[in-house]
Amino acid sequence: MRWSGQEITSEQKDALPGLARLNNLVRSVRTPEFAGVTFHEVLAKSALNKVPGGGGALPFGWTINPYRGCSHACLYCFARPTHRYLDFNMGTDFDREIVVKVNVAEVLRKELAKPSWGRHPVALGTNTDPYQRAEGRYALMPGIIDALASSGTPFSILTKGSLLRRDLDRLEDAATHVPVDLALSIAVYDDELQKSVEPGTPSTKARLETVRAVRERGLDCAVFMMPILPYLTDTRAHLDAALAAAKNAGATSVLYTALHLRPGVKEWFMLWLEREHPELLPKYRAMYGSQSYAPVGYRKWLAARMKPLIAAHGLRRGEEDPITGGVRSAALNAMRDENGDRVRQRDGAERVRPAFVPAPVAPEERLTLF
Ligand code: SF4
Repeated sequence: MRWSGQEITSEQKDALPGLARLNNLVRSVRTPEFAGVTFHEVLAKSALNKVPGGGGALPFGWTINPYRGCSHACLYCFARPTHRYLDFNMGTDFDREIVVKVNVAEVLRKELAKPSWGRHPVALGTNTDPYQRAEGRYALMPGIIDALASSGTPFSILTKGSLLRRDLDRLEDAATHVPVDLALSIAVYDDELQKSVEPGTPSTKARLETVRAVRERGLDCAVFMMPILPYLTDTRAHLDAALAAAKNAGATSVLYTALHLRPGVKEWFMLWLEREHPELLPKYRAMYGSQSYAPVGYRKWLAARMKPLIAAHGLRRGEEDPITGGVRSAALNAMRDENGDRVRQRDGAERVRPAFVPAPVAPEERLTLF
């Protein structure tokens, strides 16, 4: 690929004040394969992002976001407001103006090599999707996976991207060194609705096939049914079909939660609802008019519907990381004994997961925004 002809300009400080504020924009690029999308390549100053927690046993978490913005373009995406920090809008700009940290793996390797790094679990996919379409072009994840595994750092990945399959060899190998927790986000099992509300994502079928491919490597794979959309995907028939499909693909656990609409995202989602399902507007306004979370009564009703269905399908309810919102790392659940634990793969072979012992937390660990 010839990059020079696609470059918009190497310095855009006047045109892109938000990016210029970061003072690390290399260039902005458009390509024919990604019509309507602009990639803003930046040199990240840091890769590991420290997420404040609620104190107690889990005072904070760590995440990596190789991209900002997400071409998966889910109407309900809670990360949309983060794009305003860069002076982009949280609507179409979030879907089409994608910031790419082209040096993220290199920076990450340096951060992980510091004696102060505590080898705490790192979550990917909790803000924007690391296997969105841009990853097919920039291939940042292989370097990130290698850096985490070789440094002894457990990690988790939550994605809607079937592109994860490209890295399965790597992930399988990484899981022999550190705990690796994988999850596919698959909430809509109605093709027409899925294309409408998550227009840039791989199909539900492709994502279920990804779950199956992960399981065939002997790795666990959770399915995040998030969000459940009131009056659209919460019928017993839809939930039953969804759980049957997840079970059939080999999902090891299922997590669910009702739609959450924070300010800004709410207005963007309601515009879509007015266009596609105007008959539901009064109901959604009653539910979300003055709050971001679905009403307690609805959440209780949903739990009463989901719990027996999950049990009926022989699925386990998974655990969310309370700080990052990603799949909870196995490394947090149990520090393994010295011999590790044995995992039987589909072909009958056994491999041993290594023991994981976290290093002490260093006082100088930094909070980073970008
Ligand atoms: S895939 Fe995730 S990060 Fe991307 S738009 Fe959808 S909800 Fe947002």
